[in-house]
Amino acid sequence: CGIVGYVGENKASDVIVKGLERLEYRGYDSAGIALYNGQLDIKKGKGKVQILRNKLEADPSDACIGIGHTRWATHGAPNDVNSHPHVSGSGKIALVHNGIIENYNSLKKELKNKGRSFYTDTDTEVIAQLIEEIYESEEDIDFEKAVQLALKQVVGTYGLAIMNVEKPDRIIVARKGSPLLLGVGDGEMFIASDASPIVEHTKKVVYLDDGEMAIVTKDEYQVKTIEDVSLTKKVHELAMSV
Ligand code: GLU
Repeated sequence: CGIVGYVGENKASDVIVKGLERLEYRGYDSAGIALYNGQLDIKKGKGKVQILRNKLEADPSDACIGIGHTRWATHGAPNDVNSHPHVSGSGKIALVHNGIIENYNSLKKELKNKGRSFYTDTDTEVIAQLIEEIYESEEDIDFEKAVQLALKQVVGTYGLAIMNVEKPDRIIVARKGSPLLLGVGDGEMFIASDASPIVEHTKKVVYLDDGEMAIVTKDEYQVKTIEDVSLTKKVHELAMSV
């Protein structure tokens, strides 16, 4: 339902939780966050963003990169296990997803046949496992390429934000049928599923279109298609009143 991401020099959890609160108006059943500060730190569960906020107050993190999600369950009951972020089998890849993966059942079957285990009832988990399967089975493949190959197999809609502990300086985002935009700051970047979490931080935004992805670090973003064609995107100025 809602996505917020941050990479920069400030406390990612502050930006992300505040951003998720800005998205609460859309409705949701669960909330979660993945932060990276030497290791992946995931907090998630059924219920309000306030519960997530409380968990972070009890166990704070200085991480400067992270992704957050409010879930409106479509596949799998609204419970702690099914809430996002979802992680791959190795625990190295974490992602949040808006939308519906229509062919998740057949992808899940194929991945199970290849020996992958599944831990949730969501359609989303299949994306994390599929990316990892490709990343681990193809020699010398870079992570962005693995994401591209995985998304080519996916039928359905997605707004995605993905982290990989092996590439801890970046968030990969992708969009098809579910909105996603980047907020361009000074030494920091914001990711969100609508402008409301971004507008208090920067007025400069880049809207992704369907079939596009971006590699986002604190100092730059690179937009390309899933087919790996690099794009130069227009930077829009948000109106002050947004
Ligand atoms: N289909 C995913 C799920 O049920 C994402 C739902 C959403 O957009 O929040 O977990």
